[in-house]
Order: sequence, then C-alpha cells, then structure tokens
Amino acid sequence: VADLPLDPDPATAQPLPAFQGLLLQDAADMAPFLVDWRRQWQGRAIAVAQPETAEAVATLVRHCAHHRIPMVPQGGNTGLAGGSVPDNSGRAVVLSLARMHRIRAIDAANNTLTAEAGCTLQAVQDAAAAEGRLFPLSLASQGSCTIGGNLATNAGGTGVLRYGNARELCLGLEVVTADGRIWNGLRGLRKDNTGLNLRDLFIGAEGTLGIITAAVVKLFPRPAGTAVAMAAIASPEAALRLLGHAQAVLGPALTAFELLGRFSLELVLQHFPGEADPLSQPSPWYVLLEVSDWRDACLADSALAHCLEMAFGESIVTDAALAQSLAQAAAFWRLREYVSDAQAREGPSVKHDISVPISCIPGFIAQATPALAADIPGMRVAAFGHVGDGNLHFNVMLPRIGDYGDLQRRANRVVHDLVAAYHGSISAEHGLGVLRADEAARFKSPVEIDMLCALRAALDPHGIMNPGKGISAQHRY
Ligand SMILES: Cc1cc2nc3c(=O)[nH]c(=O)nc-3n(C[C@H](O)[C@H](O)[C@H](O)COP(=O)(O)OP(=O)(O)OC[C@H]3O[C@@H](n4cnc5c(N)ncnc54)[C@H](O)[C@@H]3O)c2cc1C
Repeated sequence: VADLPLDPDPATAQPLPAFQGLLLQDAADMAPFLVDWRRQWQGRAIAVAQPETAEAVATLVRHCAHHRIPMVPQGGNTGLAGGSVPDNSGRAVVLSLARMHRIRAIDAANNTLTAEAGCTLQAVQDAAAAEGRLFPLSLASQGSCTIGGNLATNAGGTGVLRYGNARELCLGLEVVTADGRIWNGLRGLRKDNTGLNLRDLFIGAEGTLGIITAAVVKLFPRPAGTAVAMAAIASPEAALRLLGHAQAVLGPALTAFELLGRFSLELVLQHFPGEADPLSQPSPWYVLLEVSDWRDACLADSALAHCLEMAFGESIVTDAALAQSLAQAAAFWRLREYVSDAQAREGPSVKHDISVPISCIPGFIAQATPALAADIPGMRVAAFGHVGDGNLHFNVMLPRIGDYGDLQRRANRVVHDLVAAYHGSISAEHGLGVLRADEAARFKSPVEIDMLCALRAALDPHGIMNPGKGISAQHRY
C-alpha cells in the first residue's frame, strides 16, 4: 500500500503515469490537506493525489478499489462538518480535485455552464458574468470552495430564497464511480424523465457514493442592479411578518433575507473594529434584505425603499437604513458574513446549522434559548442565518469553564431534540461529515437508514468512498 505510485493500474497493468508529479507523499506537502478549515479535525494519509483529468481520477480510483484503499475526495477544504479530511488510520488517499479547474463550456442560449469539479465557486461566478449571466450560488467561502464540493454538500448560502440550493442549480454531472468508471451525465436539460435521475444521488452525498469530476449548472439573467438595507425589528415574530410583507410587495425581486441577533452583531463590532453599527440605536434583532431588479439599476433602490416605508407604517420595522452606495451595501453584508469569524475570535462555541418550517422559527428561538440557559448556565446564543429559508445558525457560545465535549453533547441534545419536535433538520446546509453523522442517525427511522445503507453498498461495495462520513452501516438499529 505504501508504494502507491509504483503499483500498476489494475485495468491496464501499467504504472500510474498520470500521477507522476501529482502525488504528494511528503509530510510537509500533505499537511494542508489533512486538516479542516476550522482546524477541528486532523488526519493522516498515504498520499494526496491531485489528478488533472477525469481519466486520471478513474485510474486512481481503480487502483484504490483494487487495493481496498479508502479515498477522501477534497475540493476547497472549506467544509464545516469534517467530511473532507481523512481519519487517523493513515490508510486513506486524499483525492484533491483542485487541479481540475477548467470551465469546459458555456452555452449562453441554453443558460448553462459546464465546469470541472475543482473550479472555485468564484471562478464559476466570474465565467458566468463574463457571458453576461448570473450563477447565483453565493457563500462567504466562495473564493476557496469548489463547485464539486458545493454539489457534494448541496450547499445553500444567501441566494437560496430566490434561486434554490446547489441541487436546484445543477442539471448534469460527470462522476467517477467507486469501481473507477466514468459516468458522463453532463446533460444540460431542464426536462429529462428517462427514469431515476442518478445525478441527485451524488448531490449531497459528501463523496460517499462517487467522485464528481464536472457539472452542468444553470445560469440566470444578471440583474441590472441590487439594493441592500438593514432593518431593525423587535423580535423573530417581526422578522416573519417582514418576510411575508416583503415577499408580497417585492415578489421574486427579494433575493436575500438574513436574520441577525444583536449579540451576533456586537461580536462583529467588537472583533472587527473597522465595522460600524448600521443604525443609530441598538435593536434586539436585524434583517438584511437584498432586492434585485432586471430592468434598471435605480428601480431596486426605490422598490426596497417603498417596501420598508410600508413596513415602518405597519410597525413591522422600528428603523431601517438603505445602503446609499455599493461600499455601504458591502459593509452591511460584511456585518452578516463576519459573524462566524467573530465568534471564533470570542471563544469556544457549539455550532448548529438547523432548519425548521419558517413559521416555527420564532417558537423555536423562544423555546431553545431558555432551555439552553437552564442546562448550560452562562452560555450565550449567537443566532443568525438564512431565515427566509427557515435555516438558522443557532450557535451557543460556551462559558469558559467546563469540559467542551460534555457541553457540546448537552447543547446538541437540547437544540436537536427541539428541532426534531418541530419536524426540522439538524443539518440544513453543511452536511453530516463526521460532525453530525451520529446525531442525524438518532433522528432517522430504521427504514430510512436501511435504504441509505443499501444505496451505499450498491454503489460502493468495498466501502472505500469516504468511509466514516455520513450515515453508514454502523448506524443500523
Ligand atoms: C467562511 C465560510 C462560510 C461558509 N458559508 C456557507 C454557507 O453560507 N452555506 C453553506 O452551505 N456552506 C457554507 N460553508 C461551508 C462550505 O464552504 C461548503 O460546505 C462548501 O460547499 C464546501 O466546498 P469545498 O469545495 O470546500 O468542499 P470540501 O470542504 O473540500 O468537501 C466537503 C465535502 O464534499 C466532499 N467533496 C468535495 N469535493 C468533492 C467532489 N468533487 N466529489 C465528491 N465529493 C466531494 C468531501 O469529501 C467532503 O465530504 C462556509 C464555509 C466557510 C469556511
């Protein structure tokens, strides 16, 4: 196993020429690929492979299948659930898609773009923009995360309200299967009912069923202009009223609706001293709204101003500031995007990425906060997120005393049990990886776990595709 580069490809009996120079085995070279973004998980590997073509991926996979070597696909390594790094056994190969970064085609008339898996999300957005189109998936990690990783995690972000998550933006995939064959499913079709759509199996599978090597994604017309505002509201109930009002007044022009608690904002102001309080008086809650217009850049501003004036008249918002320039709009977005970093600088926290029906958000927050305070005295809740999608990052800042593992278990139990009571999800957009696999299994029925395991066994009979991540046979009842 250790002489991976020299072993022949079982299909061709040839050595692995495609990997010459692209296999890292030196500890220092491999190090960045063996630890996750937040430095929570650190693993070991035989090698890090960086193939440049789907054929080279297939060669490596055949080789690993033959030798039963586990593989960990990796894109930008920005995942927040520990799915992209190997375990500590030192038996795995990390398969980095980072060198597969060509935009293969853009069909402007069909509004589609074909990108290799290792293209960063930013590169896909830029390529779409160069053709006068919009690729609307938008995450704070877009400079580093890859389209392959976005699809493998079914990423969400700030554009879901209007455009859907990564799954809804994907029309076709190219996948290397666990036995090292290439499935070309790169179809740019919006309608294709020729049986089960295999594409959907690989989206959100976190690399447990096969390796995504390329994708066809949907493009949209670029808005002529966007307007951004920060609105102060008294409560999560008011956020819901504002959402209903904004959707009624603005229709599909409402392209983002993000909730921010005062404590989350204060963390940003404290740890990023260059940022400014958006309004003159503090408010317990804020909503960042973004509106797009496809006709005229100025119309977005007037539509959002009109919407907020009406909301003020109906006492839904208590104050609001409409960004007066692109710089101010960017500053409002930074207040939202810096929350995770500000929390990390503040100290240890337990992160939750939950979703409940949108109508249940106020009830969830009202019940979860006191329940956590009763179980973990001294904790502070930093709640923020894509509330227009029912998705909250309900993070619990921990007191400085106490065992982290114990506090994490207690916080998870309170939050996730309540999520289950609201028929919600304990992972709205980050996936399961190693972080949430056991917790997710707590809430899945035996029949659901059996079906998931049957799929895994059918597509990966040797159990070499990202083992230990997501729901697997060990979770069977
Ligand atoms: C600052 C910051 C902000 C973020 N904001 C958001 C957000 O708003 N919404 C959101 O959903 N996520 C967010 N994330 C999480 C992360 O960026 C996403 O999960 C992203 O989709 C991961 O892409 P990646 O290329 O980095 O994948 P990686 O981290 O490399 O991998 C993630 C998972 O996908 C698998 N994988 C990767 N590439 C492939 C492939 N080609 N084929 C098969 N499997 C593969 C890996 O094995 C792993 O299980 C954020 C992360 C950071 C650091």
